[in-house]
Order: sequence, then structure tokens, then C-alpha cells
Amino acid sequence: MMKKSFVIILSIVAFIFVQCTNTAIDKKVSDQKNINDQVIETTQKALVEKYGSENEELIGRGVKHAASLWRASDGTTSEFENFCLDQYISNDSIKEAVFLKISANFESLWGHQNKIILDLNENMHLNNGPYHSIDAMFAAYSPSSHFADDFYSNKIAFVIALNFPPFSLDEKNEIGKNWDSLQWAYARLGDVFTARVPAELSQKIGNASTGSDIYIAEYNIYMGHLLNNENIKLFPENMVLLSHWNLRDEIKSNYANKENGLEKQDMIYTVMKHIINQTIPEAVINSGDYDWNPIENKVYQDDNTVELTSEPNSRYQEILNNFHALKATDEYYADYNTFVKRAFSGSKEIPQEEVEILFDEYLSSPVAKQVGELIKSRLGRDLKPYDIWYDGFKARSSISEETLNDITRKKYPNEKALEADLGNILKKLGWEKSRAEFIASKVVVDAARGSGHAWGAQMKAENAHLRTRISGKGMDYKGYNIAVHEFGHNVEQTISLHDADYYLINGVPNTAFTEALAFIFQKRDLQLLGFTNENPDKEYLETLDLYWSVFEIMGVSMVDMKVWKWLYANPEANAAQLNEATVNIANEVWNKYFAPVYGINDQPILSVYSHMINAALYLANYSFGHLIDFQIEQYLVGKNFSDEVDRIWSIGQVTPQIWMQEAVGENISINPMIEATEEALKRIK
Ligand SMILES: [Zn+2]
Repeated sequence: MMKKSFVIILSIVAFIFVQCTNTAIDKKVSDQKNINDQVIETTQKALVEKYGSENEELIGRGVKHAASLWRASDGTTSEFENFCLDQYISNDSIKEAVFLKISANFESLWGHQNKIILDLNENMHLNNGPYHSIDAMFAAYSPSSHFADDFYSNKIAFVIALNFPPFSLDEKNEIGKNWDSLQWAYARLGDVFTARVPAELSQKIGNASTGSDIYIAEYNIYMGHLLNNENIKLFPENMVLLSHWNLRDEIKSNYANKENGLEKQDMIYTVMKHIINQTIPEAVINSGDYDWNPIENKVYQDDNTVELTSEPNSRYQEILNNFHALKATDEYYADYNTFVKRAFSGSKEIPQEEVEILFDEYLSSPVAKQVGELIKSRLGRDLKPYDIWYDGFKARSSISEETLNDITRKKYPNEKALEADLGNILKKLGWEKSRAEFIASKVVVDAARGSGHAWGAQMKAENAHLRTRISGKGMDYKGYNIAVHEFGHNVEQTISLHDADYYLINGVPNTAFTEALAFIFQKRDLQLLGFTNENPDKEYLETLDLYWSVFEIMGVSMVDMKVWKWLYANPEANAAQLNEATVNIANEVWNKYFAPVYGINDQPILSVYSHMINAALYLANYSFGHLIDFQIEQYLVGKNFSDEVDRIWSIGQVTPQIWMQEAVGENISINPMIEATEEALKRIK
């Protein structure tokens, strides 16, 4: 359910804007930094002389930051000094007035750009009839790609850098505790122009990322061509599975197969190990030209053995390509001069070290062993490494899916029926009529081609979009369940856009938060259909299911983080060395946290995730989403749901820890989930 959707355009806006491809040929020489420490110092002195010393700290910070962004093409050193002297705003009320002007104009710019993107993508995203290649060409166009260049060249970026300089994450977490919302909004404005990465380097990051997206998208295994040692094909002839997601899901679905499920699961895991170790014959990837026995690692064509070369560490070369492209931009970031820092302290706003401590705490909890024992007894066998994907905690509902389908199809025959009901949904959740109608009026429901997503407005004058899939027969229960999730996103988008004190702080701290808030709605889907407490064990089973999947994804994320730390420690490594290091790290993490539960050592399974190849350091978001969800749910018990949602959703984009303090009165914590799991263990045998 947690996917890279389009729910938080604004927080990635700064990232998109540096992805500019506007390279003038003769720009290179004049693009050098030309403001040295000497010039910074004289400029600071001149400003203090002119405006007084009471704001010396802020002046120093602003001049330094503006200097870090200034290039020879922007002007000479004396032009820089004069610019600072002219543009520095010492008067607080003028500064606030200027801030509000910038904010209103950015709302218009980003809001309209967002609207243009929505419009140009309509034929791709909505059920608008057949595609034409012109649709994809329009969808690829980005109206914001020249934003950064334009705003350096018109000097507005420098006015902002000088007067609203950015703060580091530590500073935000420390002094930010005492900031009012205006000070937070100033700091968020400061985050818009933090680093000026040359366009050609951003382009290389884009190329590496596209390359690994394609590599992953084309990594299919032809299951119908897999042989066991008796030369029997266990899987259907035409089954083609994408690594690793489909392979994982096939393992999951074979828990119910009492006939040869275990053999199939073992075989899939054997395939995974060949992918991880790169011992997979290259010619069986994305191809059904050969039959492959992964147990013996032998390949056959027309029943004759053929010798084929293994994949030449391409998997690890993809990681290296991304690493090299990202590392090349390190020197342009003052605080976050590694990609690890940018991914954690930068975009997630939780330092990597803190994440590792939290995950270690969760993974080390003795409750893992107890849940492992429970799974063992439910399976009636010892645990296998791929039981990290055990899915036997799914609660059977007392209401059949057919009954639910009948209800939702009748209730929502088309997208407009859902749109008309959004106000009622909110009223059922406790909102008063006028408030419910206001929020509902800001959400439009569209019929999507895919499974659906929530796309927020970026200006108050526009509406959020709920995209959902509705067949000719009306909305089935699965679609309804997803639609309630997406509506949760829309409600958050709408409340924070309209009710956060300033436009610049609308939103939530990071992706994990948007997902947590959507889960909170999604879980109430049956309540909205009028059902209550239909299976007393459901909640406990869900807790165990969630506990176990967070245990898995935290292990995976631990490997992801350690691999990137290893890369920074070994920047010259080649793909073969990275292969070896990754397997060692995966085994190490397994041996520390999983082996005590599974009773088996040295299993590299945690490094099979495809996200590690094409979305480095993203995986931690999943774990955070679940932890935050649990903490908010625990906090909501006994409180007025709609009042709390209104309050919490409008806190806005402060840092994660400050947000959690304001929302539920404590930092992000594993305790609510561990405690709920202990409770569930008493109830489920
Ligand atoms: Zn979502």
C-alpha cells in the first residue's frame, strides 16, 4: 500500500527544481564559485556596520549561504557585496511583508505548475479512452524544470538565501522547539534554495536512476522454465514474475498450497540467492529461451545442457552507477555532504544514526522470538529464511467479500457517487456538517486507469484529486478499501493546505507520515459501511502481521543503510567487491537479528529487495509509517477523532520529532507496537 505516489509534491519540489537540464554551452567557466571567505567576511562586516549588530548571527548565516550559491556568472565579488547591502532586510515587519509576498507568489507558481502537470497527465492517469504516444510526450513535460535557473538568474533565490537562510536538522530540532509557525515558515522558505548543483550533474543522477529503473522493470523470471532435480516444472508454463516483488508474492501465496507449496517456495528462494550472488545465468533473465534448474544451476535447451555465463554483477553495477552520480554532487551541499545525510537528515529529517538505533532496538526485542515460535507452531515445521514473508496472520472476516462487494457496488456505481458521499463519510467519522462539507468540497473523485492515488492541490484555489478504479459493475470492496486510504491522503492534504498557519509549512514532515495518516482512514473502512467489531481476533492478528512485516522491512532497511555506509568507506570499489560486501552485510544483519529467531545462519535474503537497486535508502520510510501509525492510533483511543485529526493534520511541515511531540506528546517510538504485539501474543495461539 505504501508506494511512491504523488501525495507530497511540495516536499520534493526543491528536488525537482534542481533537476534542471538547461545547460548553456559557454556557461562552464563563468559558473565557478567566486566568493571566497575573505569576501564573505568583508560583506558581513559591511552589513553589520550598516544595519547594526543585533542580527549579526543571522547576517553571517545569510551572507555565507548566499555566497555558497553565487557563481561568477551571477556577478563580480563587489556586485555580490552590493547586492547583499541592498537586499538585506533588517526591519522585522518589512521582512514579514516580503515573506508573505514571496509565499503568495510561490503558492501561485507551484499551485499552477501542479495543475498543469495534472492536466498534462490526465490521459495517462484517467480512464479517458485509448492512449496515443502524444499523451506520454505531454506527460514527460515538466513546467517547473527551469524554476531554479530562472530564480538564480532573476536573483530572487539570493534574496531568499540572504534573508531566510536554511537551518540544519540539528538546529531545527533544537532551536525549532521554540519557534512559532512564522519562524518555521521562514526556515522552510530557506529550504527551497539549499544547494546549487550543476545541471549536468543532476542530469547524470537522473540518467543513473532511469537506468536502474529499466534494469529492475525488465528483471523477470520465466517460472514455467524452472526445473527441479526430477526435471519437473512446478510452475505454470506462462508464469512470468518480476524480481523481487512478484517472486515474494508467489512465496506468500504458496503457504496455502499443501501439495507442493514448500518445494515451490524453496525453489523461489534458490532463484533469489542466484540473483543476490549473481550466479544466475544471464540468458535466463527476462527470457524463456532456456530451461533452468536453479538447484543445480544447470541450463538446458531442447533437453541438452548448455554452458552459459552468469550475470556479470550488473545488479551491483547499477548501485555503483547511482552512487557515483550522487556522490559527484556531495561538494555542493554544505551540511549534507553525503547522500546518506541527504536521504536521512535531508529528506526524511531523521539522522541516519538515530534511525539505526531505533531499528536495532526493534529488531533486538525478545518479542521476535515469541512471534517466531508462534509461526513455527502454526506452520508445523521449522522456520525457513523466506518465512520473513509469512502471511498466515491474515484475519478471516466474518463478512464475505461477496457481501462487501455487493454493498460497495450498490453504494458507489461510479466515481461521482463516491464524490457525493465524501461529506457523509466525514460526518460518520465525527465531523460537523459544515466542516465535513467544506473538506469534501475540496476533493474531486476521478476514475483512474491504475489502482489509484491521491494527488493534492498545491494552492488553496485548487482541489485535491482522489483517483480510484471503478469497473462497469461499480466499485468492488478492494477498490473501496484503497479509495478510503487515498481519501485519508486527500483529507490530510486539504486540512494542512488550508489550516496550517502558513503556506510554506503545509504538508507533513515526510512520506512516512502521509502514509501513516492514510492507514488511519483505511482501517475505518468497515466502520464506514456500518459494521462494528466483526471478528474479535482481527485486531490481534493484524498486529502480529504488522509486527512481523516491520521486522522484515527493518532488517532489509538495515542492510540498505550499511551498504551505503560501506560504499562511502570504499568509494573505489568495483561491482564484484560490492557484491561480496553486500552479501557479507546481509549475512551479518541476518546473523545478528534473524538467526536467533530462525535457528539458521548466513542467509542473504534481506538483500534481495529491488528498491535497494533503484530507490536507495527509501526503505526506511515503510517502517516509520507503521510506527507512527501505531503511536497515533494509541493516542486517539478515547479522544474525539475528528477534533484530533483537525488539530494534528494542521501542525504542518515541522521536523518529524517536533511533529510527533506536538501530535502525540512523544518522539517516534517502537514501544506502542511492541506492547501491542505482546498483548496479541497472549490472545492468539
Ligand atoms: Zn498511500
